[in-house]
Amino acid sequence: MAGVAAATHLAKHGVRVTVIDRNDYLQFQPLLYQVATSQLPAEDVARPLQTLFADSPTVTVVQAEVTGADLQRRVVHTSQGDIGPADHLVVAAGSTANFFGTPGAAEHSFPLYSVVDAERLRRQLSGELRRVCLPAGAEQTAASRSADEAAAADPADRPVASQDQTTVVIVGGGPTGVETAGAVGELVDALVREGRLAGSAKVQLVDHGHALLKPFTQESQQYALAKLQKIGVDVEFGLAVTGVQADGVTLSDGSTRPAHTVVWGGGVSAPPVVANLGAPTGHGGRIDVAADLSVPGFPGVWAIGDVANIPDTHDQERAAGADSPPGHPPTLPQLGSVAVQSGEAVAHNIRAVLKGKGTEPFAYRDKGIMAMIGRNAAVAEVGRHRHEIHGPVAFIAWLGLHAMLLSGVHSRVDAFLQWANGYVHKDRAARLELDGQPDRIAWDDDSADRPTIDA
Ligand SMILES: Cc1cc2nc3c(=O)[nH]c(=O)nc-3n(C[C@H](O)[C@H](O)[C@H](O)COP(=O)(O)OP(=O)(O)OC[C@H]3O[C@@H](n4cnc5c(N)ncnc54)[C@H](O)[C@@H]3O)c2cc1C
Repeated sequence: MAGVAAATHLAKHGVRVTVIDRNDYLQFQPLLYQVATSQLPAEDVARPLQTLFADSPTVTVVQAEVTGADLQRRVVHTSQGDIGPADHLVVAAGSTANFFGTPGAAEHSFPLYSVVDAERLRRQLSGELRRVCLPAGAEQTAASRSADEAAAADPADRPVASQDQTTVVIVGGGPTGVETAGAVGELVDALVREGRLAGSAKVQLVDHGHALLKPFTQESQQYALAKLQKIGVDVEFGLAVTGVQADGVTLSDGSTRPAHTVVWGGGVSAPPVVANLGAPTGHGGRIDVAADLSVPGFPGVWAIGDVANIPDTHDQERAAGADSPPGHPPTLPQLGSVAVQSGEAVAHNIRAVLKGKGTEPFAYRDKGIMAMIGRNAAVAEVGRHRHEIHGPVAFIAWLGLHAMLLSGVHSRVDAFLQWANGYVHKDRAARLELDGQPDRIAWDDDSADRPTIDA
């Protein structure tokens, strides 16, 4: 998102830009939960880079893996050979899952940071749910269920059978863990209500802290917890996951939990390529940048978006909050809005340097933070002063923000809103998600113009 924003703005001013990515598409991470729970096909949240820059003759897209760089010369080493030297080099390589060295986590858990991750998790979840579900059309109707069976449909009283059971453990109660738990919990809840579950399906979220959604207020945290519990998600605090095995997790108190699917939402760090760049790094292995987004010691090199520790110069009061650990200077969070705005700002500064002018510090326009917990349920703390809203209104704010973020990727934001309307109002989740094709966003793209998603 950051790299595309920078390239788009530079291209508008006729600057020649080479965009290098291992994928031939831009991915829209905020909708990965919907892909993982079969509510959206993966190609709807990824857009070919060639399409994005079709009307930008000064942009060249190269599909290659970046393996390192010579930052002094601004030459990039890639799987397709070296590219450069360039006058300016912008690093916008995003984030990757941080497993914190937890044994087995990389091998056995499912992170959710890319469309490929989301597609892998979708296949795993739909396979597991099919295993414990009745075939389509064979659902038990309310009338045919006995009173006891009907009572068992209450999430709190779900049967815990030793066989025909699937358990999803979600590691981490931050936005990724909560949003995934909400999406998976809602899917299971819908299957229960539709009488589709022949066995049982449990969703558990484990966090070593004592609250969900750490950057949010206590009220928002409690709202999120109540919403997850209402759809049957079992939330356990005060326990860290210390190991992941093929069939379960080990917790910090020495106990184990069986798990068929472990979703890793434990945190992010810089992607591996950063270690090969020789740039100054700090918290999370990310590149420490100056206020104008330049990388100190390397003239003409910049870092933006998730990959950078961007100083929060705008609002020291807020910056002293949750985003930076003690001993680290306050930095901006890893958010789509930071990525897009820093992309625009770096383009502005590069153009200033090209014209022989001075650069400006990046001033983030904070629109707030929000997390979606499910259909019609979200928490949002809007604006710099964190005006707090919950429930359907927060969900609408979430849609608005994401429509705005998507506008950098797709011109048909109305298509996204139309899809969202169906997503909220049609209560046919279980049927759609397991049996048929998920509702598509009517982007109206050329059918040949599809991203290549190699899962
Ligand atoms: C599940 C999830 C949900 C989220 N929800 C929200 C939300 O609701 N709201 C919000 O504001 N933010 C959200 N975010 C955060 C937001 O998506 C990110 O902050 C944003 O995408 C960061 O943009 P970026 O350009 O820095 O990185 P990315 O968008 O990740 O782009 C990095 C690019 O670099 C490429 N790349 C990396 N390494 C290499 C290499 N070695 N060679 C070649 N290419 C490489 C990748 O393929 C990728 O295309 C979410 C993130 C996740 C994971």
